[in-house]
Amino acid sequence: MPLFRFKALEDVLAREPKEVKFPSDKVSDYYATNVFTQETMRAFLPDEAYKSVISSINKGTRLERSMASQVASSMKDWALTKGATHYTHWFQPLTGSTAEKHDSFFTPISGGRAIEKFDGENLVQQEPDASSFPNGGIRNTFEARGYTAWDPTSPAFVIGKTLCIPTVFIAYTGESLDYKMPLLKALHAIDKAATEVCQYFDKDITKVNASLGWEQEYFLIDKALYNARPDIMMTGRALVGHNPAKGQQLDDHYFGSIPERVVSFMKEYEIEALKLGIPVTTRHNEVAPNQFECAPMFEETNLANDHNLLLMDVMEKVARKHDFRILFHEKPYGGLNGSGKHNNWSLGTNTGVNLLAPGKNPKTNLCFLTFFINTIKAIYDNADILRASIASASNDHRLGANEAPPAIISVFIGSQLTQMLDNIEDNVKAGKMTPENKTELKLSIGKIPQILLDNTDRNRTSPFAFTGNKFEFRAVGSAANCANSMIALNVMVADQLNKFKKDVDARIAKGVKKDEALLQELQKLIKESKAIRFEGNGYGEEWAKEAKKRGLSNLKDTPRALEVMIKKETKELFGRLNVLSEIELEARYEIELENYIMKLQIESRSLGDLVQNHIIPTAIKYQNTLIENVRGMNSIFSKKEANDLSLTQTQLLKEISTHIHEIKVKSGQMLDERKKANKIDETKKKALAYCDNVKPYFDQIKYHSDKLELLIDDEIWPLPKLRELLFTR
Ligand code: ADP
Ligand code: MG
Repeated sequence: MPLFRFKALEDVLAREPKEVKFPSDKVSDYYATNVFTQETMRAFLPDEAYKSVISSINKGTRLERSMASQVASSMKDWALTKGATHYTHWFQPLTGSTAEKHDSFFTPISGGRAIEKFDGENLVQQEPDASSFPNGGIRNTFEARGYTAWDPTSPAFVIGKTLCIPTVFIAYTGESLDYKMPLLKALHAIDKAATEVCQYFDKDITKVNASLGWEQEYFLIDKALYNARPDIMMTGRALVGHNPAKGQQLDDHYFGSIPERVVSFMKEYEIEALKLGIPVTTRHNEVAPNQFECAPMFEETNLANDHNLLLMDVMEKVARKHDFRILFHEKPYGGLNGSGKHNNWSLGTNTGVNLLAPGKNPKTNLCFLTFFINTIKAIYDNADILRASIASASNDHRLGANEAPPAIISVFIGSQLTQMLDNIEDNVKAGKMTPENKTELKLSIGKIPQILLDNTDRNRTSPFAFTGNKFEFRAVGSAANCANSMIALNVMVADQLNKFKKDVDARIAKGVKKDEALLQELQKLIKESKAIRFEGNGYGEEWAKEAKKRGLSNLKDTPRALEVMIKKETKELFGRLNVLSEIELEARYEIELENYIMKLQIESRSLGDLVQNHIIPTAIKYQNTLIENVRGMNSIFSKKEANDLSLTQTQLLKEISTHIHEIKVKSGQMLDERKKANKIDETKKKALAYCDNVKPYFDQIKYHSDKLELLIDDEIWPLPKLRELLFTR
């Protein structure tokens, strides 16, 4: 029987691209057709109910119970026209993916008949079996139940035969158990804070929306190869495998032509995305071998985040139809480009102004500078919280791994804006500004170009870069829920804006003119936050040294990065803005550590099994072939001749034996460390034990396994090799 690996390779080579049919030539014919949009609501809802929903969307409040039945019944009628038979509350538990519990519309009634029913109670509230979702101890200490409730700001949608209703997930005691609830609160906080500050510039501004434009990177792997790699199947990444001769060192341009099969896959998921109202624009891009990217138009953050999670789900399903598996892991293959999820972030007003875009005159530019500088100050003050927001076992492999953003948080702003900030720093004089100072400043602020030439993706190494009219947070992991980083970012900026408002008002109260007060305060912030600004190469060793001198943190692993979540200052910050309580922060900290431990535990077990059941037996098989060969030589030639002639074989035998031995010893030691770690009760200590005592064995075992891969006959190597995973098409 041929080796599973070869069968898999044959399968891949025999595959043809699947044909994809467009529902119509015009995207507008099918865009958002599977979404219960406001337009659809108007058509399906009685007037009173429609107004009530719109009001809760605009005010961000829950739907009145009295209206819920009407809305539910209309929603059901609409869903039935789309072929739906079931409904589910769709929510974002802290496991990282989304969860659903499907119920049928079908309800038996007397006389052996049945009707399709969905009432208001089921719309506004449901009780999923909460015990299976992480709660960080909240539900152990309290009542062991949680409920989901509709978030009307996210529209309902139909996928397949299911009506999905986006919901928040809350414990009966009121604590949030998901990502959506605190995200909504953080967005409310930034709206309030930013709108207040906007009053200095434009009284017509009554609402500020934080926008999010995510760029999702991912790898594709053929399902046959996936199935032949137990490590990728279990952990999402290759735990062993020698790097291919060709890989990262090649220029990006090399990876230009996307295989037909992948194009088909992209077309199909895009059609599905468009039907769900996700504004994907065709931008096909191959980043590394078998790594691709998808970047829709930006949207309001809550919706954008729902859309990201939804699309990840859709992509996973569509990939299967095309005989692919999709890998969202941040580092599926060591030594190769990792996957991120760049979070482009900005603030937009109800008057249609992007607060982070330079404008046409000194006034709009002073507004721009206000939001720009306050953001930088917020990052400076809360860099560790931002770092914690992207911490995960899988992202640890990526951050700081040479071609990814480093674990040190810094801000890139480009030379033109650096000059501008220097100019303010030099020219603003506390107390008495000369008319010359003022004119000079006004002139130079007015001259900020609308297109900043050095801000268009020039510095790829910065984790937080200003890219002309938005900031791009690049350190977010490809598998992460964006909510975590967006909660952190919006909270810290909101808090900074609140402080700013207070301090500027205090200056004005002392008789300083408004513009001067703003500039004086901005100058102070520029000075205070200077250390976070870095324009150089973020990957270099020198930056790590320089950052240390500047007092910036370099938190390389998740357990240490997470510690800030339960610090006093963090609790005060999130409490002040009413986004997360002390109990919620502690629960989240606990859950993230548990997730970390679980991931490392699975990786360690998978690696142990892999070397034990696949690598070592193969190595022994090859050893036996060599031994057989040496024996044969001895039987044909004289002893002296045989010794000389079989030097290569005996040398090989020795090397192979050494590597087998090392693997055996090291996986035994890893197992011991795991056992020790598992006995630790305190979550933090346990996570550190996994990080410091178990994890280091991964690379050591991989090293010896990869050596064996190079020594052993290709004919009997059981696992698809990295070059096959990456280049077979
Ligand atoms: P590129 O980086 O390829 O030059 P863009 O600058 O247009 O492309 O945008 C990159 C990403 O930033 C896109 O995903 C886009 O949706 C997002 N983006 C653009 N403007 C904003 C904004 N105001 N707020 C949030 N995201 C934005
Ligand atoms: Mg980008």
